[in-house]
Amino acid sequence: MTKREIKHIDKDTLKKWIEDESLTEDLSKKADKIRREVYGNKIFLRGLIEVSNICKNDCYYCGIRKSNRNLNRYRLSKEDILSAADFGYELGFRTFVMQGGEDGFFTRDYMVDVLKAMKKRYPEVAITLSLGERSYEDYKAFYDAGADRYLLREESSNPDHYRKLHPYEMKLKNRQECLYNLKKIGYQVGGGFMVDSPYQNTDDLIEDIRFLERLEPDMVGIGPYLVSHDTPFRDFKDGSFTKTLRLVAILRIVFPYALIPATTALGTVNPRGRELGLKAGANVLMPNLSPQTAKKSYNLYDNKLNTGLEAAEAKKDLEKELASFGYRVVDERGDVTDFGNKN
Ligand code: SAM
Repeated sequence: MTKREIKHIDKDTLKKWIEDESLTEDLSKKADKIRREVYGNKIFLRGLIEVSNICKNDCYYCGIRKSNRNLNRYRLSKEDILSAADFGYELGFRTFVMQGGEDGFFTRDYMVDVLKAMKKRYPEVAITLSLGERSYEDYKAFYDAGADRYLLREESSNPDHYRKLHPYEMKLKNRQECLYNLKKIGYQVGGGFMVDSPYQNTDDLIEDIRFLERLEPDMVGIGPYLVSHDTPFRDFKDGSFTKTLRLVAILRIVFPYALIPATTALGTVNPRGRELGLKAGANVLMPNLSPQTAKKSYNLYDNKLNTGLEAAEAKKDLEKELASFGYRVVDERGDVTDFGNKN
């Protein structure tokens, strides 16, 4: 399969696939078959660098929200970021993801400087940013300085549901406009959402899939909603593991060409989350390259799994573990355009 096709699934089928627990294994098998047709048994690694947990936003679900006073706030320096990349490059990583809260310290000029320095050191790596909503001009400057991809989950495509997750000043329209701006500029773009976020119902999830069909994303990142005790949503429940697996599978079926991670949240909610996520059609893992202090304080939710590779041997162990499931970790950039190139 070399064509970038989207498969539209009717609403009743989607509803059944999302809600029926007994379909988890069948959907996973179907999705795994598709990812093998498109990407073979390759797994792409992304080195995650959590650049800051300082955020001007107050999303009701997120542990690094502005109003959380119980968090040790940090921001990595340019040198910290580059040395995390040095470590990752030595291990074979060819994509780095810089993710963080919406931290005003990371101005356009500052980020351009960091991006240029990283691209100068490692011209062949892909750089992904996940720094939230920014102006068109910022996105363009980052792209021109070497950023290749951008992750910005839409979180919810139903305006009423979006409103229940975010304070009034945060607008779904704005977030969606950011995603379209990123596409226009030329980024490989990733959307996504949390599964079982508070007040979410099946129709909201279907609305998300429909929005993504219109967006035509290159990447889709989803994970279960997980409780952070330091947020107004502390009394809600963790999202369902198996529903998340079914949604990973559905996304692979709808977007056969897409880059889909088995996320840290999936690995946190279940010890076999990463493995079963890959078996449900995911083809990307994002080990954490952040320094230890950052890892400890980038607490989006409680009990976050630490999937770091503190030592080079850990990557070899990961490769062995994934080989035992029939997957092959490759030291490649892993662009969306690689689909159909299975070797
Ligand atoms: N500030 C950037 C942004 O808004 O896209 C990137 C950082 S943000 C913390 C990254 C993602 O973490 C969000 O898109 C959200 O889906 C996820 N997240 C935040 N709180 C979470 C929670 N309690 N459970 C699961 N995922 C969560």
